[in-house]
Amino acid sequence: MIIILTEGTNLGTKSRDDGRAFDELRPLTIEAGVLERADGSAYLEFGGNKVLVAVYGPKESFIRRFQRPDRAYIRCRYNMAPFSVDDRKRPGPDRRSVEISKITAEALQPAILLEKYPRSVIEIFIEVLEAEGGTRCAGITAASVALADAGIPMRDMVVACASGKVNDEVVLDLSEVEDKDGQADVPVAIMPRSGKITLLQSDGSLTPEEFEKAVDLAVEGCQSISKVQKEALKNRYGE
Ligand code: UDP
Repeated sequence: MIIILTEGTNLGTKSRDDGRAFDELRPLTIEAGVLERADGSAYLEFGGNKVLVAVYGPKESFIRRFQRPDRAYIRCRYNMAPFSVDDRKRPGPDRRSVEISKITAEALQPAILLEKYPRSVIEIFIEVLEAEGGTRCAGITAASVALADAGIPMRDMVVACASGKVNDEVVLDLSEVEDKDGQADVPVAIMPRSGKITLLQSDGSLTPEEFEKAVDLAVEGCQSISKVQKEALKNRYGE
């Protein structure tokens, strides 16, 4: 099932590289339950990003490092395929993927009822098959659907979206070109029901007013994306 989501009020003054309005998301589709062997899975396309997520668990943790006496431990691996970017990426973890794996686990953690599963582990594998800017957000959004697909009890979903500053204007959902040539990138994740922010990063320079506008814009984007997450789960499991 394909769900296309495009929005935007085109009130911005300057046009963007791909013709989007300042508050317009790239087309988004999410499908839940795409892998037979994982406990939960999701496939997401967001603009030129293609991301596959597999979830296992909660299951008993036999590695002491990944055991917590009072709750489950989230092990997350974000991986970019060598063929996902223009210049072939060297396979294996690097500083960037280690950082994104860590912030992804931290962004998802508040939504999961970890206390129900002491000494167990929940594994999340995020595979970026094609990248076009905003893969950390795409990974978090898809991972949340995969966790729900695995039947892992959650307080809320987690949904992520970046905003930033390009050509002196605050815009929603940066493409790869905008990410590279822009002045700032602000990835945000929220739990959409409570509005609680679970990830907030900022790279680049923004005035306090621009930063506030960027966060508000990203939160609005997250709320739109959250509807597509819900549709994906409804398509798999019904109402
Ligand atoms: N990128 C790339 N090669 C790399 C890492 C990233 O071409 O080794 C591209 C990719 O399109 C990615 C974008 O640069 O989406 C922005 O990367 P960033 O580190 O800002 O993370 P993201 O925006 O993907 O969360």
